[in-house]
Amino acid sequence: MTDRDRRRLLGLAGTGVAGVAAGAIGATAVGAAVADEGAPTDAELEARQATWTGDRPLGVRRVWWSVPTEQPLLALTFDDGPDPLFTPRILDALASAGARATFFVMGTMLERHPELGRRIVDEGHEVGNHTWSHENLTFLDAEAIRDQIERAHRAITDTLGVAPVWFRPPRGALPGAALRVASELGCDTAVWSVSRTISQVGTPPEVLERLVDGLEPGAIVDLHDSIGRGNFMPPFSGLRDELAAKREVEVVALPELLAAIAGMGLSSVTLSELVRSAGT
Ligand SMILES: [Zn+2]
Repeated sequence: MTDRDRRRLLGLAGTGVAGVAAGAIGATAVGAAVADEGAPTDAELEARQATWTGDRPLGVRRVWWSVPTEQPLLALTFDDGPDPLFTPRILDALASAGARATFFVMGTMLERHPELGRRIVDEGHEVGNHTWSHENLTFLDAEAIRDQIERAHRAITDTLGVAPVWFRPPRGALPGAALRVASELGCDTAVWSVSRTISQVGTPPEVLERLVDGLEPGAIVDLHDSIGRGNFMPPFSGLRDELAAKREVEVVALPELLAAIAGMGLSSVTLSELVRSAGT
């Protein structure tokens, strides 16, 4: 058996999904290999590969789940905005607590609300790339993945005058092609170590309890200031309303979350600050 056959058997050929649910790859992929019907051909797999066309070596880029640090710092992060329904209230709460955060913006949302993007930067927060329109990258080919990430990168750079150095894939689903494009653009990838974890809407106390459970030095906390793909759904559709209700719960819980962070002697800083403080 060649290395290529072995990788194919394990489902790791092609763009593969890095990081997320890595432990499940073996089990599902062996099943897929037994029933090989419908599996992509070698030619299809090769067509999905991203190709490096730049003139610089990619070097080392990292995927961060949390930051190994002894400093009393962590990073709050907010995905999917900027959104006038949520972002201003979040910025107000952060300002009241003297906290800084990282906002993973969607290119389409920044195009709609550039003034909110500028307010985020003006108030000392960091902006990262959360793709153009929140597609599930694991379902896209390499060309579409590149377009999703590069368009958002250009929108952020053009609108805010600063090139993002952080990328977060929607849903934390990270195909190899996305990791490669982010790396070409000079971005590390941030997923998270803490999130609300309950799939239903929940109440602010319930969500707060889950979030506080995970707080520790170096934690990367995943929160939201908009509704992701819900922004492209018709008004009053069930999923859109449910996403908005979840975000509302997170925003209502935020002042108490910030108080809990301070109560533990911790401070929220931007991802870049957190990494620098750890000396990594
Ligand atoms: Zn998102």
